[in-house]
Amino acid sequence: MHLTRDIGASLRAGHPWVFSDVVRMPRGMQAGDVATLHAPDGRFLARGLVDPESDLAFRVFTLRRDEGVDGDLLTRRLEAALDLRTSIVSPDISGLRLVHGENDHLPGFQVDRYGSVLSIRSDGRMGLAWEDRVIDRLCALLPSSSAVVARNPHATEGRARLVRGALDGPVTIVEEGRRFLVDVMTGQKTGFFLDQRDNRSRVARLAPDRRVLNLFAYTGGFSVAAALAGARQVHTVDISPAAVELARENFRLNGVNPADHAFTTADAFDVLEEAASRPGEWDVIVVDPPSFASSRRTRTRALGAYRRLNRLAMQALAPGGWLATATCSSHVSESDFLTVLGEAAGEAGRQMTLAGVHGAGADHPVRLGFPEGRYLTFVLGRLH
Ligand code: SAH
Repeated sequence: MHLTRDIGASLRAGHPWVFSDVVRMPRGMQAGDVATLHAPDGRFLARGLVDPESDLAFRVFTLRRDEGVDGDLLTRRLEAALDLRTSIVSPDISGLRLVHGENDHLPGFQVDRYGSVLSIRSDGRMGLAWEDRVIDRLCALLPSSSAVVARNPHATEGRARLVRGALDGPVTIVEEGRRFLVDVMTGQKTGFFLDQRDNRSRVARLAPDRRVLNLFAYTGGFSVAAALAGARQVHTVDISPAAVELARENFRLNGVNPADHAFTTADAFDVLEEAASRPGEWDVIVVDPPSFASSRRTRTRALGAYRRLNRLAMQALAPGGWLATATCSSHVSESDFLTVLGEAAGEAGRQMTLAGVHGAGADHPVRLGFPEGRYLTFVLGRLH
């Protein structure tokens, strides 16, 4: 398979994606076929897996001419990914990302561990074609796993499938002393937003005796962190009734009475509009929306939504209050986000001091040369 434009330098620098407009796909190729990629002049560049019907036509699995793409390569990559976590993540944490796709040199495959349950998400028809092989190799390395749940947008059987073992309702995980119920089958993403773990701890540090508004709360990750740390009042807001119900359960699981706090199933924009009309009621506001920019094309509109949300939150915060705000879109860079926050502060007539710019936790490593890997930006700012 040959490139029509030489993007070899970017591939060697760590970017594992080849789009369909720069490659000549030989006829008859099927999703998941192994192919060798050559430069326009015929030089060997990489070996990987093809997805002929997708814009993302080829993903690099190796830059080594002498390395095949097969089950043994999967095992080596999985071993390296597990070893990285063992080296860097506390063994007390029972919910963590074991494999972070491209960043762990396993393009298209993400694996999260929730207790003894593995939750795998694969991309594209290529991912579906290789899913079984990845699960086989993974289970061989983690024989005490009790169940495997798989997700792939092209699977005919629906969103999440129980593909190995048995699973009986939500699983309990522990992170930094916080306990959470994770519904691996029906939850969003692979069940939980593991990437915000360290940022939940950051919010916990600010929370004692404060009034905390947690928007886009999902199952109350930041809320539980704040309540356990001694927040005076925590208000949990999400548009999904099932998520809010699980947030209440998570309070109980942590020994916090939900009746002492507030829970609302609503559009966070509406709740913020109201909060901004009564400024000073909140000391900490967490804004953790879903990705507003799913593609380059929707980026401008997304930046507008981030600006509006953050402007309202800044207006609502008490003097000296804290804004904890995130974007999880790979199309919005850290510098885009900081620019938007600056504009929002200007519109709100507030000054904000940046007290920290953070990403996802260490179990979400970022591959150098692959900027898409740094999708999460979490900013802590103090409002004046
Ligand atoms: N902060 C969470 C993760 C948030 S994910 C954690 O730490 O676990 C984004 C959440 O936003 C999802 O739960 C989704 O249901 C919710 N959501 C999406 N649109 C929304 C809206 N307009 N108003 C409120 N919640 C919304």
